[in-house]
Amino acid sequence: MHTHTDISPETASIHAGRSVDPTTGAVAPPLILSTTFLRAEDYSDTESYIYSRYRNPNRASLEECLVSLEQGATTSARGFAFASGLAAGMTMFQALRPGDHIIIPNDMYFGVRALLQDVFVPWGLRISSVDMTDSEAVRSAIEPATCLIWTETPSNPMVKLTDLQAIADIAHEHGALMVCDNTWCPLVQAPFLHGCDVVMYSTTKYFGGHSDILSGALIFKEHSMYAERVLRLQEVGGAVCAPYDAWMLLRSIATLPHRMRVHCANALAVAEALHGHPALAALHYPGLPDNPFHALAQRQMQHLRGIVPHGFGGMLSIEVRSTATQTAIQSAQAVAARTTLFTRATSLGGVESLIEHRKSAEGIHSTTPDGLLRLSVGLEAPQDLIADLLYALESVVV
Ligand SMILES: *Cc1c(COP(=O)(O)O)cnc(C)c1O
Repeated sequence: MHTHTDISPETASIHAGRSVDPTTGAVAPPLILSTTFLRAEDYSDTESYIYSRYRNPNRASLEECLVSLEQGATTSARGFAFASGLAAGMTMFQALRPGDHIIIPNDMYFGVRALLQDVFVPWGLRISSVDMTDSEAVRSAIEPATCLIWTETPSNPMVKLTDLQAIADIAHEHGALMVCDNTWCPLVQAPFLHGCDVVMYSTTKYFGGHSDILSGALIFKEHSMYAERVLRLQEVGGAVCAPYDAWMLLRSIATLPHRMRVHCANALAVAEALHGHPALAALHYPGLPDNPFHALAQRQMQHLRGIVPHGFGGMLSIEVRSTATQTAIQSAQAVAARTTLFTRATSLGGVESLIEHRKSAEGIHSTTPDGLLRLSVGLEAPQDLIADLLYALESVVV
């Protein structure tokens, strides 16, 4: 099988990891549910399919396609598909050793933080949580045992940007692995081109794109000891992506570049329309010229060629003001209750727009501002989405 690392994402998303089925001529790939596969007479065929936990044809196709879509992947790059984004993250941490030290962002997807605190701290991992927008803070958190820096950009839910190359340089000076959770920006942001060694995805989000597949992935820029451990953890741990989910994902990925373009264009249109709205205390979207991360976003988030206007992702956050009669939590919840096209739900990256009061979702330990609503801007007509939000914001009388 040839690799597709040198071809455009629009082409790779349709062709990478696929071939016409040689036995039937089927153009759409067959779904192979069999958990076990015929062995050679002397059982020597360990390079082919044996048992579905080790390898499955649909998962292998997906993993090949994921690698080919990741710009900057080397010829020894490896992709691993998991049952969820957090299973991917968990496997990355399981590849470390008790006593190892890692650095994580203080603004990050709360599920990864909970996984670390509830599972990996008792297991023996040591963690420093820092402001990733401050390189000096990252540098001073480095210890002799630091083996990994975890980044997530734009961050969740504050939409802050981390300068990946700056943090990668610090990681590499100390021989640490640089990981980026790139769930929010597939294709738009290419972490391997900014010094990252590993990219993690919740493919539940944009790759799946239709809010109906739970899955995740780790992609290693080049083969390494850690990639070898992750492979082994898949084999003996089994948190793998199921064949049907892999098949569904590959089907969804065919339209990923086109969906990302529209997500980006729609989010920018929504951000521009809501910018300066009197009901809002803040709006966080790196595509706006007055956003503090705009210059970095222009360097780091412009990798999907042909996005007009430029691509800064499909996610933004707004902070609704409190009023004379409502707290910020109440006014934000009232806005979310009044939208009809934006559905009140968690998650992101689907064709449909979603709105979420993040503090309510994150629970009592949340440090997210009270009035913050996170928007996942879908593929509906932008003027309809804007009208829906402007109507909902009328409920906030300041
Ligand atoms: C959703 C999400 C995850 C977790 O992925 P699951 O597929 O839900 O397990 C991790 N990181 C980010 C940024 C996410 O949005």
